[in-house]
Amino acid sequence: MNAVVSTISQLLPAEIIDTNAEQIALYSQDVFSVGPPICAVVRPRTIDEVQSLVRACLERGTPIVTRGGGMSYTSGYLATAPDSVLVDMTSMDAIVEVNLEDRYVTVEAGCSWQKLYEHLAPLGVRTPYWGTLSGRFATIGGGLSQNSIFWGSGQSGTAADNVLSVSVVTGKGELMETGSASQQHAAPFMRHFGPDLTGLFLGDCGALGIKVQATLPLVPVAGAKGYTSFAFHESGPMLRAMAQISRESLTTECFGFDPYLQQQRMKRASLAADAQQLSGVVQQESGIVNKIKQGAKIALSGRRFMDDVEWAMFTISEGRTEAEANHQAARIKTICAGEGGKELPDSIPRILAANPFGPVNNMVGAEGERWLPVHGLVPHSRGEAVLAALESVYERNRSTLDQFNIETGYLIAVVSEQITVLEPVFFWPDELNALHKHSLEADHLARLNQFDAVPDAWDAVYKIKSELVDVLSREGASHLQLGKAYHYHSALKTPALQLITGIKSALDPDGIMNPGALGLS
Ligand SMILES: Cc1cc2nc3c(=O)[nH]c(=O)nc-3n(C[C@H](O)[C@H](O)[C@H](O)COP(=O)(O)OP(=O)(O)OC[C@H]3O[C@@H](n4cnc5c(N)ncnc54)[C@H](O)[C@@H]3O)c2cc1C
Repeated sequence: MNAVVSTISQLLPAEIIDTNAEQIALYSQDVFSVGPPICAVVRPRTIDEVQSLVRACLERGTPIVTRGGGMSYTSGYLATAPDSVLVDMTSMDAIVEVNLEDRYVTVEAGCSWQKLYEHLAPLGVRTPYWGTLSGRFATIGGGLSQNSIFWGSGQSGTAADNVLSVSVVTGKGELMETGSASQQHAAPFMRHFGPDLTGLFLGDCGALGIKVQATLPLVPVAGAKGYTSFAFHESGPMLRAMAQISRESLTTECFGFDPYLQQQRMKRASLAADAQQLSGVVQQESGIVNKIKQGAKIALSGRRFMDDVEWAMFTISEGRTEAEANHQAARIKTICAGEGGKELPDSIPRILAANPFGPVNNMVGAEGERWLPVHGLVPHSRGEAVLAALESVYERNRSTLDQFNIETGYLIAVVSEQITVLEPVFFWPDELNALHKHSLEADHLARLNQFDAVPDAWDAVYKIKSELVDVLSREGASHLQLGKAYHYHSALKTPALQLITGIKSALDPDGIMNPGALGLS
C-alpha cells in the first residue's frame, strides 16, 4: 500500500478511501486538462472526518486538492505533485437548516445548486444568486470557492456576493466559522462582524482551506417573470444594449451569443429535447389558459426563426407582479430598439428558465468536439474594446485555428449594474476524456462523433487561450474560476500580494492546501 494511503487509513474508515484505478484516472482530470495521478479519492461524510484527513496529511506533508462537482476547467482541483490526496465533497450534501424566520439556509458544501433550489422552491424561497448552468452537478462549495455567475446574477451579482457565513477546515486542521458565527454563541445570520472573514475564503479556489458548510440568505420567489429575445447584426449594439439593461437593473439574467455559438446551440437542441423542455414551461405557467397559450406559442414558433440570426440576446426579468415584470420587459424592448435590435419570439429564455439545471451536455460541442471557455469580467465601458482585443488574438492565430479546425465563439453576459462578461469559447475535434463520458447523458454521448486524440490541437488551444488570458490581464479584467489558469499572483500589486501570502501561511503553514491554486504554494 502507498505510504500516504497507509497513513490516512489509520485515521479514517476504509469505506471512504477509494484507490480504484478507474476512479483515480477520472478524478485526476477536469473538463480541459489531465493532472498528475492522485493517490486516493477520500469522500468524507462529516466535519470530523475532514479534520482527521487534514491532520493525517499534515503528518506527511501530503498535498490535498478539494473537488466539488468537478465541473471546472482551470485545473482548480488538479494536483501539482504526485501522491496528492483528492477530497470529494459530494458525500457532504445535506441541507442542515432552513430558517424561514431569519431568512437563511445552511448547507453542506457538497450540496448541488439544483438540490438546494428544489428543496427551497416548495417553501416559496430561494437564494438571491441561485447557481450555475452546471448546477445539476456543480456544488455550493465549488461555486463559492471559485466564485460563479448565472442564475440571479443580473440583479444579485456573483455567488460570493450572496453568502453570510462559511465553515472552513484550514490547513492546520482547525474549524473556522465566519461572519456573525465567528463569535461565541451567535448564529450565522449576518456576514459582517468586524473585518469580512467570510469574503476571505470566497474565490480562494480552495487554497485557504476546505469549505464544509455555508450559510446563504433567502429571498421570496418572484411572483412573475418576463422574457425577451433580440437579434443584432453586430456585437457593438448588442453589448451597448446589454450594458444599459444592466445599468438599469432590469433583468435577473441577460446573456447573448455570437453567430457561431448561436448555431452550435441550435444544432444541439433537438426537437425531442424541445418537447421535453416544453413540458417544463407548461408546468411553470400559472393558470390553465396561460399554460395552453405558452405551450402553443413555443410549439408553433419552433426554432426556425433563429436560422438567420447573427448576434442573439436573451433576457429574463422578475417582478412581484405581472405588471412589474411587463414594465421591465417593455423598457428592455425600448433599449434594444434604440440599438437596432430585432425582436424575436421569447421561447428560448422561457425554456431555459423552466429547466434551469439541465444535463451538462454543453460541456462538448454539438458534434462531440472538445469545448473550452475562457472569460474576463470588465466594466461596461470597456466591453467593446476588450472584445476587439480578444478578436485580434484569433486573427493573428488564424492559420493555426484553420490547421486544427478550431472554431471559436463568444458568450456575453452582464452581472449586477457594473459588469460585462466576455467569454470566448473554443471547439475543436479531439478525443473526449473520461470526465466528459462520465458527465454527459448516455444517449447524447452515443449520438456524438468519437474523434481521435489530436494532442497538437489541444496544445494549440492551450497556447491561444493563454494569449487571451494575457490580453485580459493587460486589460485589467477580473476573473471567476482563477484556479491555476489565470494571472492572480503575477498580477497583484505588492501590498495585496504580501497580505494574501501572509494569510496563506497563517492558515496553511505547511502549504498542503491545493498548492498552486491562485499561484500560491
Ligand atoms: C456545462 C457547464 C456549464 C457551466 N456553467 C457555468 C455558469 O453558468 N456559470 C459559471 O460561473 N460557471 C459555469 N461553469 C463552470 C463550473 O461548473 C462552475 O464554475 C462551478 O461553480 C464549479 O463548481 P464545482 O462544484 O463543479 O467545483 P469544482 O470544479 O469541483 O471545483 C472548483 C474549484 O473549487 C474548489 N473547491 C470545490 N469545492 C470546494 C470546497 N468544498 N472547499 C474548498 N474548495 C473547493 C476546487 O479545489 C477548485 O479549485 C460551467 C461548466 C460546465 C461544464
